[in-house]
Amino acid sequence: MSGQDCLFCRIVDGEIPADVIHESDSAIAFRDINPQAPTHVLIIPRRHISTINDLNAGDEELVGSLHLAAKEIAQQEGLTDDGYRVVMNCGEGAGQSVFHIHLHLLGGRLLNWPPG
Ligand code: 5GP
Ligand code: ZN
Repeated sequence: MSGQDCLFCRIVDGEIPADVIHESDSAIAFRDINPQAPTHVLIIPRRHISTINDLNAGDEELVGSLHLAAKEIAQQEGLTDDGYRVVMNCGEGAGQSVFHIHLHLLGGRLLNWPPG
């Protein structure tokens, strides 16, 4: 699934509005519509990749850029010292519901471990 069929591709294309807080050549970040913490941001590649299982050699820089964006957004949100969580679900069994890879950046409250 990609392009018109993919919700996050449509957000990348500006067809569906989102509260975008960070943009680069390869990625965008926007606030989750159903936040699970005071800060809940989704960081996604502009290019459609369905799941971690679909990553290939050559995607290292792209995936790394998502984590660097997470660090920058955490700084902007004032989370650097208190801590935050960065997580990517893979597959329905792990809770993935949108099949365009995305890092969740969660913070602003105490986060328990392990997650459910
Ligand atoms: P997943 O469950 O795939 O790991 O995460 C998908 C996330 O996308 C969920 O946290 C969900 O709230 C969020 N989400 C689903 N639809 C939309 C939308 O249209 N806009 C935004 N901003 N977030 C969405
Ligand atoms: Zn997509």
